[in-house]
Amino acid sequence: MTHSPVWHPFTQHAVEPEPTLILRTEGAYLEASDGRRILDAISSWWVTTHGHRYPPIMAAIREASERLDQLIFAGFTHQPAEALARELVALAPPNLTRVFYSDSGSTAVEVALKMALGTARARGEGRTRIVVMEHSYHGDTIGTMSVGARGVFNAAYEPFLFEVDRVGVPVAGREQEVLDAFEAIARQRRAAAFILEPLVLGSGGMLMYSPAVLRELARIARETGTLFIADEVMTGWGRTGSLFACDQADVAPDILCTSKGLTGGAIPLAATLASEEIFEAHYSQDRARTFFHSSSYTANPIACAAGLANVKVWREEPVAQRIAALCAAQSEHMSRFEGDPRFENVRSCGTIAALDLKVPVGGYLAEVGPKLRAFFLERGFLVRPLGNVLYVMPPYCVTAAELEALYGAINEAAERFGSAR
Ligand SMILES: *Cc1c(COP(=O)(O)O)cnc(C)c1O
Repeated sequence: MTHSPVWHPFTQHAVEPEPTLILRTEGAYLEASDGRRILDAISSWWVTTHGHRYPPIMAAIREASERLDQLIFAGFTHQPAEALARELVALAPPNLTRVFYSDSGSTAVEVALKMALGTARARGEGRTRIVVMEHSYHGDTIGTMSVGARGVFNAAYEPFLFEVDRVGVPVAGREQEVLDAFEAIARQRRAAAFILEPLVLGSGGMLMYSPAVLRELARIARETGTLFIADEVMTGWGRTGSLFACDQADVAPDILCTSKGLTGGAIPLAATLASEEIFEAHYSQDRARTFFHSSSYTANPIACAAGLANVKVWREEPVAQRIAALCAAQSEHMSRFEGDPRFENVRSCGTIAALDLKVPVGGYLAEVGPKLRAFFLERGFLVRPLGNVLYVMPPYCVTAAELEALYGAINEAAERFGSAR
């Protein structure tokens, strides 16, 4: 039994090893107390974009903290929040004109759902259902679990989650089936909104689908008056190759959620962007129509300054080129595993690459998961498979040589733990 009082997330303390103590982070690395340097191949759960402690972002945090700390955001405002909101509106897909701040991906999604349901209520069409994709993940609060996949993670809470309508994931070969299923549901006009992870379903196992299907789903939503919510918490800030995944499909969602990479991964912040129609549905002389939502740390000024510095990095540094190089390297490494009998579903989308290791029993709790984690850690890599799904989602500063070494370790892991030879 550990002596630390800390209860870690997604951690079974009874069976997992003691956590590694990290003293310092820099670039693509975590530096442990025993002197080891660990390559962060999953961007610390998908938040770190440019690299750990990216200098301009850390400088902005230092500078902002000389003037401001948390301050009430109702009845008051501040320059970092105002400037960042303008930037987000300018950078995000078209028609998103309003920015609501919160502090995590889950809260960004809760806000999106409440905005959509509030809008539906204001329009008085009796739309009360939410449509979601199977295998989706939108957070760990009760509301966000309700719109996410059901499974071992939320079995205990299942009776308390609200009901939703589900369509499949439109992976290659299932596109038309999913479009037809969504169209059938949407035509009944009972759905207030469709929430989805555009192009890549992260926690569900790095499942990928094409921009063309995303565009079709958005078209059906528009034609049937179903609000379209893009949860870009993971896919935003370059992960799929473009700034937002929706950009690749020319999709203009009604609501967009962003968090993880919003501050480059340095400090918590989230934003829910909404169209003018959504804002107007809540805009009234009637104070009962106020959007009743806040979290204490809404629009934290230091976090907003970090977000603003991140935007500046995107505007002034060759981030797009770095990402393009990483995307090319990822698909190149993946192509070597194409047709390899040890793997299935070899795939990549932008900076994200994934493959399923063939094992006797797969799934999230696959025996092989913790073994793989330990295997990679021993070799100096932070890799955290989703069951038997191995994926690589590094910060954009990772070098070609580091990737080469990492893929070498993946090859070795497959020799050791794969069931097919
Ligand atoms: C991580 C994630 C969330 C939840 O974000 P938190 O900051 O962990 O609450 C929501 N949606 C998607 C798609 C995510 O990947």
